Amino acid sequence: MTITLDWLGCATFRLTIDDLVIFLDAYMDRVALAPDVGLTTAQVAEADYVLVGHSHFDHLAGAEVIARNTGAKIIGSNETARVLLDAEVPDGQILRAQGGEHFRLSDDVTVRVYPSLHSCIWVGGSWQTDKIVTGHYGLTEDERAAVRSERGPGIGERTDDPDPAAVAAMQSHMADCLGSSEIGGALAYMIDTPEGSIFFHDTSGVWTGVAQNLRPDVAIIAMAGRGNINGEPIQGSLAQFVGKMSELMQPPRIVLGHHDHWMPPMTADMTSEDALRPVREELAAVTPRAELLELGFMDGTVLF
Ligand SMILES: [Zn+2]
Repeated sequence: MTITLDWLGCATFRLTIDDLVIFLDAYMDRVALAPDVGLTTAQVAEADYVLVGHSHFDHLAGAEVIARNTGAKIIGSNETARVLLDAEVPDGQILRAQGGEHFRLSDDVTVRVYPSLHSCIWVGGSWQTDKIVTGHYGLTEDERAAVRSERGPGIGERTDDPDPAAVAAMQSHMADCLGSSEIGGALAYMIDTPEGSIFFHDTSGVWTGVAQNLRPDVAIIAMAGRGNINGEPIQGSLAQFVGKMSELMQPPRIVLGHHDHWMPPMTADMTSEDALRPVREELAAVTPRAELLELGFMDGTVLF
């Protein structure tokens, strides 16, 4: 059995387990200014399942195309299901999940679904992986909404003035993408194969009581925005969020997601060695045996 993982930008991956093809999220048809990931949904000829982490466009969009072209089944939240039904994906191809489900994907492979959390989009984070961000702790939803409206659009701090043409291109792209303005309930997945297990979540949030009982062989950890630990913004950096995930799950190998320049001009590239160095240092401090795998787009990394 050979298991390979292709990164397709943002938090989208293709996991191939012999002839079983599983997409983790489905967002690869990106705005023209974002780096090309080397595959479009129209080019996807084979897919058995799409596991959707949450309902925002940069995770869900494209699942409807893959479903239509391949007959793949999509696992996702009730909000993901609602959006897919609106896009005329047949109900028979949609498997609803909230956490607690255990689906068989093939004779040898199953997936368990766990409740998870979205990064704190109401407060936004930093694009500097080692920047310690504190505060905004213990706020109610009303107070969080006030923070969000003061902060303005975008998902993180920017010191430069974004190019208005690029902002307009992104807004027009988002309007064309399938997705919801609601998170819809973030989900995490543990895929069990005869060779080992793979954890996947697609946004930087975690219920520690859930994650601490998981022991994946490979953990795909999202690194973007302000981390969410048990419903509160992390008092620390993005690198420390990755370290926290590693401490909780103790995976021998870690793959990062959501850290490329997927949403120009609002995002920044966090794939450079400068951006990854603080992550390596944090991992060396908290879980020195964890290996950080660096995936390029579509490079067919062999996991097992
Ligand atoms: Zn999101």
